[in-house]
Amino acid sequence: MKLIDKIYVDGAFLEPHGTETLDLFNPATGEKIGLVHLGDQVDTEQAIEAAKNAFVTFSKSTLQERGEILQRLHDAILANEDELNKAAVEEYGSPISATKGRTRYAAQIFLDTKAAMEGFEFEKQLEYATIVNEPLGVIAAITPWNADYTHICGKLAPAIAAGCTIVIKPSEISAIQTQILTECFDQAGVPNGVINIVNGTGPVVGAVMTAHPDIAVVTFTGSTQIGRVIGSKAAETMKRVTLELGGKSPNIILEDADLQKAIPLALAIGFSNSGQACHAGTRIIVPESKLEEIKSLIIENVKNIKIGDLWNAESYIGPMVSQKQYDTVQRYIQSGWDQGAEILVGGLGHPEGLGGFYAKPTVFVNVNQSMIIAKEEIFGPVLCVITYKTEDEAIEIANDTIYGLSAYISSGDVEKAKKMARKVISGRVLINTALNRESKSPFGGFKQSGIGRTSWSYGIEEYVEPKVIAL
Ligand code: NAD
Repeated sequence: MKLIDKIYVDGAFLEPHGTETLDLFNPATGEKIGLVHLGDQVDTEQAIEAAKNAFVTFSKSTLQERGEILQRLHDAILANEDELNKAAVEEYGSPISATKGRTRYAAQIFLDTKAAMEGFEFEKQLEYATIVNEPLGVIAAITPWNADYTHICGKLAPAIAAGCTIVIKPSEISAIQTQILTECFDQAGVPNGVINIVNGTGPVVGAVMTAHPDIAVVTFTGSTQIGRVIGSKAAETMKRVTLELGGKSPNIILEDADLQKAIPLALAIGFSNSGQACHAGTRIIVPESKLEEIKSLIIENVKNIKIGDLWNAESYIGPMVSQKQYDTVQRYIQSGWDQGAEILVGGLGHPEGLGGFYAKPTVFVNVNQSMIIAKEEIFGPVLCVITYKTEDEAIEIANDTIYGLSAYISSGDVEKAKKMARKVISGRVLINTALNRESKSPFGGFKQSGIGRTSWSYGIEEYVEPKVIAL
């Protein structure tokens, strides 16, 4: 049993003032594996105060100093990667292969941000003015449970690069992973008060951060529903907001696609992170003429996807993170059935031989755009196959959503796919490939998938404000 009973404020591990606690579970078994003590308003205000004080000095630090910190943060994560991997497997239910990749990615963010910082125009001399990009102040970072530490690193690295200080509220159900990450940050020798971490719930810690007048930017990753709450609250004190929200990403399979490759790829994209991924391609949009062939290929290929033992390097799908998430997925599967969609594979309940919060990888056919399963983000291994007659109709279906985070196209004609990509309303369009979330390109969404971008220089830009100095 892990006891997480400290918050990290002003460079010290402190007992929180808050008295509430929350149980933590192993999603693969449903067993309780830990307990986290939650911070409250007093803890949050103390962390903001520490960050505000640290900003006075840190905002004047040199690029050389900030670059060295980014390097040390990278090194500290790699020095603790086995521990981080273990925690993510046990607390989050993420299969080991994906977990290893994610931990490496979290470390890499610091190096890529360092490179972006070195090329960033912090100051520009014009003919009659100097433009200075100044650090905005204290950043409030609020992160979700899925791949939590990559989101924390994605928000922290540009803050350091920009010369800002930060208060982080991780998801309350990621406390074990966050504790190890916090130890990494502590080992990296970052000046006191630059990084502060308060465990706690959204309505308590998150709400204080969002409303506090000493916070300059709220950077949030999570659901569109909570993003709306945060955006409107932050507007009261004119904070800048970066919102990375939900998705219902389309995956268009064109007539000329090599289906032997496109279908396994579509399943990998759709079931990525056990379906608990904002960028999962959950609407597979296929030519009507190829439907029967595609159905057979889906049935055949789903059998090859390994679900279960999280420590087996070949496992691709793990459990849902919580009982709540499992129940949500079951409700959506029921709703698809109730609204007349046909279950091609999967369905309600646990996969054979598995308990905990494992849900069956499920693919629906006979789906139309008005069905709930085609419209709402499910955040589980549930995919919809939707047919089109013409390519214009495929684009229409792809864009018929409130979201615009990611999109995918499979085609034998890359030039045609690239033209099509311009017509899809999405923060990124990946052609004949799966996940390509490099920390060298901007990440974020169109429409209700969010505001702003993370990664590379785009992330740094979110944390600076241009000032004109003219004679
Ligand atoms: P969530 O919106 O329920 O919670 C996210 C965070 O917000 C948590 O830390 C939570 O405690 C906090 N929160 C809740 N209420 C709050 C409030 N009133 N004020 C301030 N903070 C509050 O999301 P989740 O269930 O943790 O994560 C899943 C969601 O995250 C999905 O919708 C997914 O699409 C989204 N997501 C988006 C991206 C992206 O980059 N676009 C990446 C990962 C996850």
